[in-house]
Amino acid sequence: MSIRVWCSGIFGLLVLSSGSAAVDPALLAKVHDWRRDFHQHPELGNRETRTAGIIAAHLQSLGLEVRTGVAHTGVVAYLRGTQERPLIALRADIDALPVKEDVDLPFASTAQTEFRGTQVNVMHACGHDAHTAILLGVASALAARKDTLKGSVMFIFQPSEEGPPEGEEGGAPLMLKEGVFAPPRKPDMVVGLHVFSTMNVGTVAVRPGPFMAESDSFKILVKGVQTHGSRPWGGVDPVLAAARIVDGLQSIVSRRVDITRSPAVVSVGAINGGIRYNIIPDQVEMIGTVRSFETETRDAIWDDIRLIAGKTAEANHATAEVSFAQHTRVTRNDVPLTERLRPALGRADGVESVVEFPASTVAEDFAYFADEVPGFYYFVGSTPKGVDATTAPSNHSPKFYLDEAALGIGVSTMLSVVEEAM
Ligand SMILES: [Zn+2]
Ligand SMILES: [Zn+2]
Repeated sequence: MSIRVWCSGIFGLLVLSSGSAAVDPALLAKVHDWRRDFHQHPELGNRETRTAGIIAAHLQSLGLEVRTGVAHTGVVAYLRGTQERPLIALRADIDALPVKEDVDLPFASTAQTEFRGTQVNVMHACGHDAHTAILLGVASALAARKDTLKGSVMFIFQPSEEGPPEGEEGGAPLMLKEGVFAPPRKPDMVVGLHVFSTMNVGTVAVRPGPFMAESDSFKILVKGVQTHGSRPWGGVDPVLAAARIVDGLQSIVSRRVDITRSPAVVSVGAINGGIRYNIIPDQVEMIGTVRSFETETRDAIWDDIRLIAGKTAEANHATAEVSFAQHTRVTRNDVPLTERLRPALGRADGVESVVEFPASTVAEDFAYFADEVPGFYYFVGSTPKGVDATTAPSNHSPKFYLDEAALGIGVSTMLSVVEEAM
């Protein structure tokens, strides 16, 4: 966040190679202000009321057609250019995470709220504050030259990308359910970006085809018979059965998945059971995640988890109930669209290199939009130059730090992509 970087960001955008996408330095200053304001006032998924209010007010001030309260707190706006088509949807996610910020910033978050029955701190640890501010900047720039736009733009400010609170619907699937892509406003393409710690600022990355994993969660409830810890033969020990299940699950990816074709991950994230050193409990609950890039692989892994949990429990005289939930589908970049739009990233101001990103086992609910219309999603490096991006605190870390030069790059790349798409 040095003054030097800040200035290069402003003046660089004045000489955007495309010529027609020059951004007012005052607008870029506003993007920084928005991002700092959102950063200081983060809100969890489906609760982004303050954030949504600021977004809607600004979009209305630009004269856009604005719809609020979409999928709880989402905002969708429509900008008509000189012609209706192509209609390009630009999407930003607006939610934050239950993380206690540990970055020394004047606008660091001290926000707290209630989550899963406990009081938690809230932080924009995934950088969605940046995405929101960037898209507001892009909307402003495009609205200012709508009389020359050879197409129209839909701005999607999406709540709850990280997943809705338990028992609620949310995110991209709910926005679609509520008709965001319903005709006659079904867009011709959808574009999104994510700031990412593993690359230095100046680098952007993209990958055609499947590039982010499907994310599922599983729950295994192992049931035994409670007894005294000194007399295990008097009951059925679910702790031992659970331990053997955890061990067995690790044979799925190593022995069953063709990892030369498609990577996959099975991880157990929590085990809960028992209360005292001398009581064998009646049950143990385990939760975990599966990441995969193909439906076939996903189905086979689910089957193996059921099989291993069920048979291992049985061999230990216990029982296992297994359930799954799909959180996010595989995120795919449309291959022809990616080939067409990728050069536009390289032409955008502030971009020094465009690299091909390896397939990533993180997940992103942009996947649902990109399953409906051709999608183009890219990553914007956000770690300051001179800092080793491979060891920099990652997104979701309490120490996640975004170099604000990434904001200018976010705006310039999106404008360049829109120009190319039109
Ligand atoms: Zn995230
Ligand atoms: Zn994110």
